[in-house]
Amino acid sequence: VVCCLVLICIICCNDMKSSSKPLVEQKIDSLLKLMTLEEKIGQMTQIIHFEKSAEESVTSKFLGSIIHTQGPLPGETALEWQNKFIALQKKALSTRLGIPLLFAVDAVHGQNTYEGATIFPHNIGLGATRNEKLVENIARITAIESQATGFNWVFSPCVAIPFNEKWGRVYEAFSESTEFTTKLTKASIKGHQGNLKDPTTVMATAKHFIGDGATDFGVEGGNTSLNAAEINDRLLAPYRVAVNEGIGAVMASFNKIGNVSMHANKALITDTLKVGMNFNGIVVSDWKGYSRFGGNDIVNAGVDMIMAVDGDLEFFQNGLKNGVKDSTVSIARIDDAVKRILRQKYRLGLFKNPFPDTSLVTKVGSKEHRKIAKQAVRESLVLLKNKDKTLPLSKETKKIVVVGEHANNSGLQSGGWTINWQGTKESYKGATTILDGIKQQAKGEVVYDSTATQNHFDADVAIIMVGETPYAEFMGDVGHESNQLKLTLSETHQKYIKIYQEKGVKTVVVLVSGRPLVVTNQIEKSDAFVAAWLLGSEGDGVAEVLFGDSNFSGKLPHSWPKSVEDFKGKYGPNFWDKTIKPLFPYGFGLTY
Ligand code: BGC
Repeated sequence: VVCCLVLICIICCNDMKSSSKPLVEQKIDSLLKLMTLEEKIGQMTQIIHFEKSAEESVTSKFLGSIIHTQGPLPGETALEWQNKFIALQKKALSTRLGIPLLFAVDAVHGQNTYEGATIFPHNIGLGATRNEKLVENIARITAIESQATGFNWVFSPCVAIPFNEKWGRVYEAFSESTEFTTKLTKASIKGHQGNLKDPTTVMATAKHFIGDGATDFGVEGGNTSLNAAEINDRLLAPYRVAVNEGIGAVMASFNKIGNVSMHANKALITDTLKVGMNFNGIVVSDWKGYSRFGGNDIVNAGVDMIMAVDGDLEFFQNGLKNGVKDSTVSIARIDDAVKRILRQKYRLGLFKNPFPDTSLVTKVGSKEHRKIAKQAVRESLVLLKNKDKTLPLSKETKKIVVVGEHANNSGLQSGGWTINWQGTKESYKGATTILDGIKQQAKGEVVYDSTATQNHFDADVAIIMVGETPYAEFMGDVGHESNQLKLTLSETHQKYIKIYQEKGVKTVVVLVSGRPLVVTNQIEKSDAFVAAWLLGSEGDGVAEVLFGDSNFSGKLPHSWPKSVEDFKGKYGPNFWDKTIKPLFPYGFGLTY
């Protein structure tokens, strides 16, 4: 009798064990059993949709994902975009196992690759709003507009903690504060992903793991000399919260730690992130990660999906196959990677419902979405100086001169990752400029002196726009005449301010930039000074605050550097070196 009872008990327990595995995990196991090595490696592969033979590769190379990186295909409607990806999805579904594709896009401030979408302030501006609910709403809208244009995966949010303002990606990050970045990270993931079942949500990606913003001297992809404890204390918190929120993906970073490429850092990717934090989603490589950062070493370190773009497809797939053949990569590692990818596809409901909702296209760039974007612009502005209550400006002001190219160009006001990877220097569809807004607000005369050559010295006030031209990645300000390593304004922009100030015209300076710049002199001499960051498509939001429809509420997400000399060390002068006093501390921001 005892033997029988023990046997029954063992059988029951085993049964309970197998049925206690969630249904999804059981499905994943069953699917995995059916897959050949080629199909598994295929799932681990991501390429660009316009790459040569991309369409054919969906079926012949069993692709797991497609990334879209390119800006405008003139005149294409949102529906046409959707249809393009629906056609690719149908191809994937026609393969032997019919595993749906993930479609990824760098929607880093709205669905910024689609002209006509709602473009929000870059993350540094959202950091200035300190408004978690707003950040969540923005991520919701980004998810909707991404789905509407065919995507179920976004490479956002960037949760970097920038240590040095010289880094060209400072604006992609919320703030220099770990604590505050962590809060906004949580809000952003909530907004993007919801519970992921809703077809208006997308999978989010926390990036770039880890140390992207903490390299010595702010060099993109450089080396960080932070030690393990510092990495833990200063950089990991946003990832912890991201994993707790159920983030679907984490992107490996270009930088090195202790001169070892992060992509090949098993201790951090596998031990810390996957095991330590219990992350069961996808670790995706960054651009050409496989060929750039160590081939199969990065798979062994824990990278699950490879951005095998720019001709890397065959190199990766053959390389990994050879790794299995010569036993330098285990099948267990490949199975783990594929399971993670399939898991997210199940979570997104792609096996049941692989296509985007066509009715969403009417939401792209809609009025209600733009309203939220404009709120974000208003709340992101930081008032740094307001001598003798220069602001708010009276709407009755007799004559206003508006100066600077940034005043009348929505491309310049939006920065990188807008329509194109490097941004655009042209205005784009659906956006309003700051000048549009000023003209709406002012009842008196408004003249525009784009390059400060017409000289309207009789104006009662000059609103002067200065700042950076769009850039993405690297050190920033690509092609700009100013020396970005100095973080100062260009000579030309300094002149715009000087010309009007020397004639005694009251000057309101609006700085459009992806980071604090060294503008101590300009601030000293101007009557009012506003940091407007990179504000996106709703330029008229700036004018609403300048003319007092709403008050300033933005607070500095970075402490503000005082001088070029302060940038001698590895890290920026302010937050990280307490001996140097910033011009304005972190959190500073005036109101009327
Ligand atoms: C960037 C990533 C981006 C990827 C795909 C890389 O160069 O570092 O942030 O997601 O390209 O466009």
